[in-house]
Amino acid sequence: VGRTYLFECPRCCYQAKASGCKERGFLFSVQTIVCLECRSLYDAVIRLKIPETSPATGKFGSGLPKFGLANQSPPPPKTPTFPSVLNRLAFRGVQRFRWVEFKPKCPVSSLHRVEIWTDPDKCPKCGSILEKHPLPYRIWD
Ligand SMILES: [Zn+2]
Ligand SMILES: [Zn+2]
Repeated sequence: VGRTYLFECPRCCYQAKASGCKERGFLFSVQTIVCLECRSLYDAVIRLKIPETSPATGKFGSGLPKFGLANQSPPPPKTPTFPSVLNRLAFRGVQRFRWVEFKPKCPVSSLHRVEIWTDPDKCPKCGSILEKHPLPYRIWD
């Protein structure tokens, strides 16, 4: 179960909703990051549970030449955003799962430089220490 807190800067009133650390839920894990370009905090999805799909067998027939295909790996899954996984429906009837790992990335642009942000840490706008509200803003699993 993960918790999202409201963080507030006492100096410039910057507000962010973030877990403030690494949080692990049932279906995914998040890590709070600060984007140096956006100067904002984000919860980045770093681990996501996806249904295990059985490898396709015999789909293309045995007579076809296999050149090229063997070296072709599927494109890496796009890094999901925290709201998108939070709103995802729970899997039904899926027995097997596997975890996919992601590098923490800024949801605005994957080219932005990000750093791990762990409470208590600095306001990305002005550098003061952000204050964490005592009650979780949101609890998710
Ligand atoms: Zn500030
Ligand atoms: Zn950014």
